[in-house]
Amino acid sequence: MPNPTSQLIAAKTGFQKALRSWYSVHHRKLPWRSEPSLYKTVISEFMLQQTQVKTVLPYFDRWLQTLPDFAALAAASEDTVLKLWEGLGYYSRARNLHKLAKAVVALPEPPRTPIAWQELPGIGPYSSAAITSISFDAQSACVDGNVVRILSRLTANGTAFRDSASAAKAFTPLANEILPETDPGTHNQAMMELGATVCFRQKPLCTICPVREFCAAGQRGDPENFPQLAAKKIERVTVARIWSEQQGNLLLHKAALGARRLAGQYELPNAGHVGLDEAKLTALVPLAKRGRAITRYQITETIYKWVPSKTERTVLEKNSELSWVPLDKLSSITLSGPHRRWITELLGDAATAR
Ligand code: SF4
Repeated sequence: MPNPTSQLIAAKTGFQKALRSWYSVHHRKLPWRSEPSLYKTVISEFMLQQTQVKTVLPYFDRWLQTLPDFAALAAASEDTVLKLWEGLGYYSRARNLHKLAKAVVALPEPPRTPIAWQELPGIGPYSSAAITSISFDAQSACVDGNVVRILSRLTANGTAFRDSASAAKAFTPLANEILPETDPGTHNQAMMELGATVCFRQKPLCTICPVREFCAAGQRGDPENFPQLAAKKIERVTVARIWSEQQGNLLLHKAALGARRLAGQYELPNAGHVGLDEAKLTALVPLAKRGRAITRYQITETIYKWVPSKTERTVLEKNSELSWVPLDKLSSITLSGPHRRWITELLGDAATAR
């Protein structure tokens, strides 16, 4: 029985051509693709990590208007950068992007190879391949979840992978093997586009797929069996959040600038920040319960209404990470995305109840 991987490699010129022809007609018109530049490519790659295109679009436009190039980004304050990123999540991306711009402007010219890009903050194998293949024609294949899915289906590779990182590592040699020498950046973008718009995780559109004739799983009719990744172990976490509103001010917690998570950003404080133990919490009124997922964590946050006593207020005032923020100043501070949403909802409810 012929090996699908060898067959794909033997037919790679036809595969590249079919993919390229489809992409030239069907690719989505995205702002980082029109009049592309190194800067636009870098910003889009950072924003698109773990985030969908439709979420990124308004952020990208706003970012480019405010910080049009590496020099402007390098000179911006961290507050400006985080405010522009507010709501996109995974804020270490914004901080790394800021550091990266400072590093790029300090160089005589931007690096051109994947290895050199991986020396810069926030850049791993995927981003370095995307940036350098698109901007400098580097011979480096991008392998993310989309590409793993396509390659595992093209070759009907039934290997059980521990996680997506090990699958990406395993498929990187094949991805590089089928990368064309001419214009590898467009090939990389076409692979990603195929994964995003045709070769869906569930119900892939095999009947209209431009590379079906090269696809073992597509022809067999069982693409959804690939790739085989071990199910993520979900961890459930519960958090008690505190809503304390007094005389037009809301109590918020601001993570220290050196904090590992959410540095410099405001959130509703948790029970520990304000010194409330389990016994005191049970006496409070829950205002809302909200769920969210971050990587493998399934987090349930219950927001409790709390009116601190005079003594408790004195203790709060000694904590430099807590502050009473006037409600009319909330729009000018950087709040983490879910917290802005919850606060807006709860203030809306409170305003209705007043
Ligand atoms: Fe994906 Fe189906 Fe195309 Fe194969 S034929 S690459 S499974 S969409």
